[in-house]
Parts: sequence; C-alpha cells; structure tokens
Amino acid sequence: MNETGTDFIRKTVEEDLASGKYSDGPVTRFPPEPNGYLHIGHAKSICLNFGIAAEYGGKCNLRFDDTNPGRESAEYVRSILRDVKWLGFDPGERVYFASDYFDDLYRFAVRLIKEGKAYVCGLSPDQIRETRGTLTRPGVESPDRNRPAEESLALFEKMKNGEFEEGRYVLRAKIDMASPNLCLRDPAIYRIRKAMHHRTGEKWCIFPMYDFAHPLSDAIEGITHSLCTLEFANNRPLYDWFVSNLTDEPRPKQIEFARLNMSYTVLSKRKLSRLVEEGRVEGWDDPRMPTIAGMRRRGIPPEAIRKFCDMIGIAKKDSLVDVALLEHVIRETLNRTAQRRMAVLRPLKMVIENYPENRSEELTAINNPEDPSAGTRNVPFSRVLYIEKDDFMENPPKKFFRLAPGREVRLRYAYIIKCQSVVKDDATGEITEIRCTYDPATRGGNAPDGRKIKATIHWVSASHAVRSEVRLYDRLFLKENPGAETQDGDFTDSINPNSLEKLSPCYLEPSLRHAAPGERFQFERLGYFCVDLKDSTSQNPVFNRTVTLRDSWAKISARSRRGA
Ligand code: ATP
Ligand code: MG
Repeated sequence: MNETGTDFIRKTVEEDLASGKYSDGPVTRFPPEPNGYLHIGHAKSICLNFGIAAEYGGKCNLRFDDTNPGRESAEYVRSILRDVKWLGFDPGERVYFASDYFDDLYRFAVRLIKEGKAYVCGLSPDQIRETRGTLTRPGVESPDRNRPAEESLALFEKMKNGEFEEGRYVLRAKIDMASPNLCLRDPAIYRIRKAMHHRTGEKWCIFPMYDFAHPLSDAIEGITHSLCTLEFANNRPLYDWFVSNLTDEPRPKQIEFARLNMSYTVLSKRKLSRLVEEGRVEGWDDPRMPTIAGMRRRGIPPEAIRKFCDMIGIAKKDSLVDVALLEHVIRETLNRTAQRRMAVLRPLKMVIENYPENRSEELTAINNPEDPSAGTRNVPFSRVLYIEKDDFMENPPKKFFRLAPGREVRLRYAYIIKCQSVVKDDATGEITEIRCTYDPATRGGNAPDGRKIKATIHWVSASHAVRSEVRLYDRLFLKENPGAETQDGDFTDSINPNSLEKLSPCYLEPSLRHAAPGERFQFERLGYFCVDLKDSTSQNPVFNRTVTLRDSWAKISARSRRGA
C-alpha cells in the first residue's frame, strides 16, 4: 500500500474488485507518446499505474501512443523503455504500440461508417473549427453529415489509398453538433498524414486521432482502469461513446487525477523540447532537466523519485508541488545510502610547516555514520593539503569560527592545526597559500588537554588528490511557476542564467579515483554528488552535484504545520 493511504482511485479499484467485476485483477496502462523524454510528471503516472497493478495482483501495460508520425521516433521509444525500467518497473512482455492496432482501428472506423455513426467530411480544418460553435452557441452541421454510408466508405478507402492531399478530408464521428460538450460535436477520428511512421513506415497515410485510438486501444488490451490527467475529463463521454459503440463488456473505465506541477520547473514535453532545440540545456538528459534521464544523470536515486510520487499522493484538484519536497526526499535517501568522502571544490593550498616533507600517514575515516555496515576507509595525510577557500578568512568577522591567522581548527579525522601566516601574490594581493603548524598530540582530532576547538573543516592531501571537474547545478528557472502562461513573453524569459557552474580543478580524496559512473557520494559539508554518466573518464573525472546538504523543506513544512 502506498504511504498516503488509499486514494480515491485505489478506492474505486477496491470497490470494483469487491463487486467481482474483474476476476483477474485490475489491468492498467501507462500510455506515453514517443515524442520526447519522460519527465517527473510521467513518473507520477508510472508509479500510479504500475503501483496499482502490483498492489492488487493485476497487470500494467506500457503502451506507446504512436499515432502522430513526424514528431515521434524510435529514439524516444528506447529512452522511454529505459527510463521506465530504471525507475524500477518492468513491463516485461507487456510492451504494446497503438500502431499495432491500426488494422483493428481501421475496421472499427469502417464499422462506424456502415452503422451511420461516422462520415467523411470535406470541410477544411478551419471550416471545421469555425462550425464547431462555442459553449453558448451550438455547432453547425457539416453539409457532408448525411452523406450516404457507401459514399463515405468509398471516400475513406481512397483516403487510405493516398488519393487525397493532407487536409482534404477527415472522417468524423456523427454524434451531436448541439451537445453542450464540445468533444461530442462530430469529432474527427481519422485524418490524412503523409509522413513516415517510425514503425509502420509508409503503410498508412491515414492516422487515427488520439480520442479514437486511445479508448479503443484500452478496450483491445482489456484495460480495466484507464487513468489519465484532469484535462481529459471532458473527453470521457467521447471515450465512453467509442467504447460502448464498438466493444462488448467489460469496458475500461476512465478516471482522471491531477497532474503533477512542480515549482521552478516546467513539465510539458513541448516546453522541454524547446529547451533542447534552442540549446538552452545540453540535451534531454541535461542534469538540470526534470526528465527521468536528466535526474538519473544528476544522481537522483530512483527510489527517491518513487518515494516522492508516493508522498504527493493522488488528488482530484491541480496544485503546485514545492520542488523543495523533492530535494528533501533526495537528501533523506542519500543520507542513508551515500558514502562520505572529502573533496575540496575551491582549493586553497595549506602547508603544515612542522610536518616532514616526505612523510605521509593513513587516517581512518567513517564511510557513513548512518550505516555502520558501510565501514571505514583510509585517507592519506601529508605536509601539503588543500582546504576550501571560504574556510579561511584573514580578517574574520565576529561569527566566523573557522580558520584565521593565529587560530586553531580541527582537520576532519586528522589533527588540530594552527594558522601561522599567509602568503600573498605580490601583484594581486590574493592569498595563495596559508602556513600552519599541527599538534602531533591530537591525531584523530582530539586535544588531550581538552581545549575547545570550535570548527572542523575538510581537506585533501595535495600529492594524493584526484584532480576533477565538479558541476554545480541550480534551479533552471527563477520564477516559481514558469509554466504559467503570461501575456507577454514566455517561460524562457525566466530561465536562470546561473543554473550551471563548472569548477576545475577540484581535488578529491584518492579513494574516489575508481568511482564508477553513476556512483553517488556525500562530499562532507558540501552536498551529494555523483560521477557523471556521460563525460566522466578515469583521466578527467567529472562529478555532478545532485543536491546541497541544507534542507529548506524541513523549515517550510514546520512553518506550514504551525499555520504560518
Ligand atoms: P506533456 O504535457 O508533458 O506533453 P503528455 O500528456 O502529452 O505530457 P504523454 O506521453 O501523452 O504526454 O503522457 C503519458 C501519460 O503520462 C499520460 O497518461 C499522461 O496523462 C501522463 N502525464 C503526463 N504528464 C503528467 C503530469 N505532469 N503528471 C501526471 N501525469 C502526467
Ligand atoms: Mg498526451
């Protein structure tokens, strides 16, 4: 059972099962159109559909809704399969394509024509739009509405045989031009499209519309519960019209739920593909993208995405989920699972004057304080180290407790050191090196005399360090709701120009030398990082920051609990 308890969809499924309607358990489907990469909104739908099938002993199909040649491709099919599996769901043999049903759908269309429930219409797309009417004004019937069935059949056959140009004719369902529901005003169900289809090639030049193909694909596959987002609520009567006119019981039931919207994020394939096409990101799998491929490259574990989808639950009303909640779940997951390492991202050289030139020693470091079974590792210490630039200040303000001239700090797992002097670049005045001494009696970090040391900082031994590039990511958008339509301009206006910072050289402790692509770590005091899946090599390691350590969500939720 999911964490938020039983939502309204699971309740419906339970009632239907209790009534004995579906003896083989529920059959759900996840129906992506292969015209882009999956994003975290799709993850919500995947978790819901595969989750229900697993919880109630049913099945879930992965069905590619490939009825729009031109915008769809085999690359997208491959990426979707990969992403669904990576998320933790395996459709096994149950991978289907709407294009597998083109013959059946064609026969369904012919049957509607023969039964007087569909006709070939010669109005242009503009004329069809203009005669559809409005919410307050009924539509105008097409002059072709009462075309004899034989004539429509002959025209439909010619449409299929490629005898007409695109847009010359469409096949329309004959329902009700005065219906208060605009979806029922003789919707188009087949149109001419002379484009190469990534699976059927040039076999077809007429393609079924989504509203026709979708319910009938559901019926063909024996789907029991067809879960979709709220914007399809108006299409439900049409869904039912096709299913009840063309198929026998038991019939699939469409249920709508609120789509996922997330702050500082756009979740629309159209918008995401614009970001890719306009070169605003480095591709669909750019770690700043809310795509599953982007999140994988960013270092987000699939279990964190599943947990997030579980926590946001399923509702009937649209809302905007705070991206800080996702970050919170990622931190919680990685805190339990990611091993700790030391890494210096903005290096400042430190020389320990009283440590012998050619000596080094191994110190013991804990891999994960949250998980004793993760054990320990050795970290080399020597005379020349790197520390983080902002862990030192020559003239520290009152509240700065880290290193400053004359002051002591603890080097994590190592010794207490004291800053004796700084070396500056003559020309720029910039600090290039700090000179320190260490207290040999404090190995491991504790002073035998019990003197108080306020700060512990991380460090890396210079001669042992792994040189690396580290990429820091920030939110891609500056506005909370970048997807909201505006009068002037569009969502790209609020792109954050500083969403990516590449740091190099960074210095990592040597145990990171053999980290595998995709492996995740906590860099102590800095955040969670992973080895980039694409650009990292053993000569030039590249790490991505998944998320910082500070959690703003804990504060946000505490505040909202107090009702502030
Ligand atoms: P987009 O708006 O991103 O183009 P779409 O609905 O056109 O999405 P599809 O490939 O048709 O993309 O979506 C496959 C399934 O995922 C559909 O059942 C759809 O309802 C669901 N889905 C898409 N976006 C979201 C979302 N933001 N939240 C929840 N479910 C979603
Ligand atoms: Mg869609």
